Amino acid sequence: MSATLATASYIGSTILFILSLGGLSNPESSRRGNLYGMIGMTIAVLATVFGPQVTGGGYAWIIGAMVVGGSIGLFASRVVKMTQMPELVALMHSLVGLAAMLVGFANYIDPAASSEFTGAAKSIHEMEIYIGILIGAVTFTGSIIAFGKLSGKIGGKTLLLPGRHWLNLAGLLVVIWFGREFLHAESIDAGMMPLIVMTVIALLFGIHMVMAIGGADMPVVISMLNSYSGWAAAATGFMLSNDLLIVVGALVGSSGAILSYIMCRAMNRNFISVIAGGFGSEGGAPAPKGAGAEPAGEVNPILAAETAELLRESKNVIIVPGYGMAVAQAQHTVYEITKVLREKGVNVRFGIHPVAGRMPGHMNVLLAEAKVPYDIVLEMDELNEDFPSTDVAMIIGANDIVNPAAEEDPSSPIAGMPVLQVWKAKTSIVMKRSMATGYAGVDNPLFYKDNNRMLFGDAKKMLDEVLVALKA
Ligand code: NDP
Repeated sequence: MSATLATASYIGSTILFILSLGGLSNPESSRRGNLYGMIGMTIAVLATVFGPQVTGGGYAWIIGAMVVGGSIGLFASRVVKMTQMPELVALMHSLVGLAAMLVGFANYIDPAASSEFTGAAKSIHEMEIYIGILIGAVTFTGSIIAFGKLSGKIGGKTLLLPGRHWLNLAGLLVVIWFGREFLHAESIDAGMMPLIVMTVIALLFGIHMVMAIGGADMPVVISMLNSYSGWAAAATGFMLSNDLLIVVGALVGSSGAILSYIMCRAMNRNFISVIAGGFGSEGGAPAPKGAGAEPAGEVNPILAAETAELLRESKNVIIVPGYGMAVAQAQHTVYEITKVLREKGVNVRFGIHPVAGRMPGHMNVLLAEAKVPYDIVLEMDELNEDFPSTDVAMIIGANDIVNPAAEEDPSSPIAGMPVLQVWKAKTSIVMKRSMATGYAGVDNPLFYKDNNRMLFGDAKKMLDEVLVALKA
């Protein structure tokens, strides 16, 4: 493939990636967005493999690596459960970071690559290598720790070393100092030592940064690491003088940063302190099983048949799905119930919290899979004011996102997080298996309110019973 054709293919891929991001911003166009992304990536891979930079002997290596990597990816995507998706994403980010690190080292010791540059261009190239390895190393270990925390292999508690901010600052100063040494190194051998020292510090910093972040704040961390992995890829693009990698890296980096910002707002967190790390370790830390996690009163249980009766008599119903709906895979039954109620003239809508479930858009994906029409699926801000005129708010496996303590108790670990105000409905019905806390580990005063009922049991099982009673 000629260099011109490769460049044209790269431009085509870039356009497809931008269209893909645009498509993913809306559930209705998201399939198309995914398709654009897949086509763009196929063109990008083909243009790179058959482009001018790969010569004869390289093909066997590339094809071998693609078969191994592709098979692992295919296997992982087939076996991973929807609820494990953030863990998989964290693991993938770690691979992007590792790749950026390895490419950086390979690029530095490759005599052909280093002899290409002289004078100022050489310094710029070496800076690209240094920064690329730095971001890659932080992303690599940070993502592995995030994976460990999300999968429960590492406890969600924050690890706060004494003087940790000073430690980070000292690490930064050492990294800057060795950066200077690296740029002034006379030979590749002499440059290796500062490079390795910086890599070790960056690897340790990645571990330290994420270990200091509480479990409840992990969603923002995942999206932040997504952003870091984008910048690591962009840095790799600079090292390899690959324009497509620079553009794609920048797209991932900036969209990850925007998503982190949106999630911070949804959880009432400070974006800057997230970027700086150590986030969620003060004030807003996830509550261990402390005072906030103690049950605080009597609850009123309800049966499935009574729930069906209340729903049948309602004019306005808002369904609030949460993580438990995903665990129970109850979305199809939820839609069956919705259809029956709508046929009876009940106005049924869904209220989606920005961090419901375990990944951004988690609930939207499940409801779309069950074919719930998009026009009745609304964002929290679009219907929070409608709860006072709602007869029944039905909460399916959600907990933190409907916790009134976020608004009413300034000492609550989730104080300030915007929540769906389900308690303002005439009746709220919470479906869950027990009195256990949600992800943030805090008790929920909603359960003890006079107008609240608890429908205990697995969400799918209970909803099946409600559906049977509704149809009877
Ligand atoms: P929560 O984790 O607060 O609560 C889920 C509830 O579902 C639990 O209390 C559990 O109670 C119940 N549940 C679990 N399994 C079942 C089942 N089979 N049937 C019925 N109920 C079940 O979820 P929310 O969606 O309300 O809130 C999301 C939380 O996750 C927030 O704290 C958010 O910050 C965090 N988070 C969000 C991410 C995102 O990007 N969206 C990523 C990672 C974390 P019980 O055990 O009693 O059944």
